[in-house]
Amino acid sequence: MNCKLCSSFITYEVSFVDILWFKSIEEPLICDKCRAKFVYLSPNGCPQCNRQQDEHDVCFDCQRWNRQHAPLINRALLRYNDTMKQFIQAYKYQYDFTLAQVFKAEFTAFLKQAGDVVYVPIPMKSTQRQFNQVTALINQNKLKLVEVLVVKPTVFDQKQAQRNRQQRLTSEQPFCVNPHLVAAIKAKKIVLIDDIYTTGTTLHHAVAVLRQYTTAEIVSYTLCR
Ligand SMILES: [Zn+2]
Ligand SMILES: [Zn+2]
Repeated sequence: MNCKLCSSFITYEVSFVDILWFKSIEEPLICDKCRAKFVYLSPNGCPQCNRQQDEHDVCFDCQRWNRQHAPLINRALLRYNDTMKQFIQAYKYQYDFTLAQVFKAEFTAFLKQAGDVVYVPIPMKSTQRQFNQVTALINQNKLKLVEVLVVKPTVFDQKQAQRNRQQRLTSEQPFCVNPHLVAAIKAKKIVLIDDIYTTGTTLHHAVAVLRQYTTAEIVSYTLCR
């Protein structure tokens, strides 16, 4: 097995007990060297979006959002560094579904820290994908998702990656709701879930839609920032 990020060969040990019990052996997808390059975020940095920075003030991006919307608190598990960029590229844009396993348990545990909440994943915006890159990151036996957000049919397959930052910041609302699930989000605090917080646009759009149906607190959790 070769590392999905750097292609180097991975050796791993299979214990005698595993063989004895015909345990399914999980081959590592990423080598130890690449794994060590992932950086876990501390609560330092921007107190609002978790962006890593030396100052502990609200960052420039958040300040701009705050002039237009109520502040959105975002918590992220990992830093969007070069290794994470490589991971997202392979997972999200080259559609390597198997990579969901790398952070599934950790990300699920991270989300569970939010407590008694309703979890709402960001839906996928491309029909080219065979899987939702957000829900695939979550162990749904341990955490129930309410997929109340849906993408408006008109915005499907606009290639977000190819549009520039300014266009993304000002793009129009891509989401609406599944009316059958609206009742499920009424009473409790909502945790929006996305794979990555880049400009914050997607999450702010999601908040704006859900705000029409609930007055409860809405925060977001992302795999990386
Ligand atoms: Zn590697
Ligand atoms: Zn910020």
